[in-house]
Amino acid sequence: MSRVYNFSAGPAMLPEKVLETAAAEMLDYKGTGESVMEMSHRSKEYQAIIDETEALLREIMSIPDNYKVLFLQGGASTQFAMIPLNLMTGSGKADFVITGQWANKAYQEAARYGDAKAVASSKDKTFSYIPEIDKNECRADADYFHICLNNTIYGTKWAELPEVSVPLVADMSSCILSEPVDVSKFAMIYAGAQKNMGPAGLTVVIIRDDMIGHAKDITPTMLNYQIHADNGSMYNTPPTYSIYILKLVLEWVKEMGGLEAMKAHNEKKAAIIYDFLDNSKLFKATVQGKDRSLMNIPFVTGNEELDAKFVSEAKKAGFINLKGHRSVGGMRASVYNAMPIEGCEKLVAFMKKFEEENS
Ligand SMILES: *Cc1c(COP(=O)(O)O)cnc(C)c1O
Repeated sequence: MSRVYNFSAGPAMLPEKVLETAAAEMLDYKGTGESVMEMSHRSKEYQAIIDETEALLREIMSIPDNYKVLFLQGGASTQFAMIPLNLMTGSGKADFVITGQWANKAYQEAARYGDAKAVASSKDKTFSYIPEIDKNECRADADYFHICLNNTIYGTKWAELPEVSVPLVADMSSCILSEPVDVSKFAMIYAGAQKNMGPAGLTVVIIRDDMIGHAKDITPTMLNYQIHADNGSMYNTPPTYSIYILKLVLEWVKEMGGLEAMKAHNEKKAAIIYDFLDNSKLFKATVQGKDRSLMNIPFVTGNEELDAKFVSEAKKAGFINLKGHRSVGGMRASVYNAMPIEGCEKLVAFMKKFEEENS
């Protein structure tokens, strides 16, 4: 068996320990004689799995008791509609910061259901920075203020949260569990699982109790947070296997020392790559300074042919999915929690060699 280093932006690497446990439990989960995949979601064995997953997430993220944890489907993209349907129901207004394609999609979808306003954008420089917010642009009567905390495609992250007086809603798809966050600063957090939590098919929502129960009348039943909250995420069949893998990932995070330790681990990994980029004559990071993401690191050579050559040679050497997003080109190394330090060190050694051979 030979495993590659997968720098994909998602679905992404999972800790080897998680895959090994899943393999060991595949045919017979803890003496039940069945796989978790085959298990009734109404069984007491499965109820124990989902309860344990929620308890671990609450413990690891220090989620206060007045928040619900929901295990949903449809990806972060379904949240782009679900959020306005459920939350844009007071004044019908919501404010957005356009820090990239995902933030823009959230904004555009909300505009179908109410008065969505883009209060700031970094589109002028291909979303390579987090824009300043002019407080006068923000509406005091908005039902919520939406940000994308880590911008997967462009490699930027909010170093500090914006100071807003209305409920803060954040897309954390590509940074959840990468470092501690103060959940109480948010009215709602959501994340597709396939970056840092587990396999695709699961979307995690962490929502404050008072944000639930105000959905528009037209809201489809399946898109109503209240329905999922009242039914313990089991109104219908939840993504049972993905939730089980999340449980294994959370056990791994806890074993690694929790989110403070994950942060140190991720800062170390990102520093290995950024330090190299900042000293390279061939490669250059596209994001500078405090806005740099710990999870997604885009870089370029400035020459498209050379970029393509790099991506192809890297793949042959066992470093896969380094091609940048189709909208920005160049390269991108996504180094989520499960990427080991050794993967970053070996990538940098490979880049050094490529630089020597191509300059
Ligand atoms: C990947 C990603 C999405 C889209 O997630 P889906 O689960 O594919 O809908 C949205 N926002 C961010 C920040 C992402 O990284």
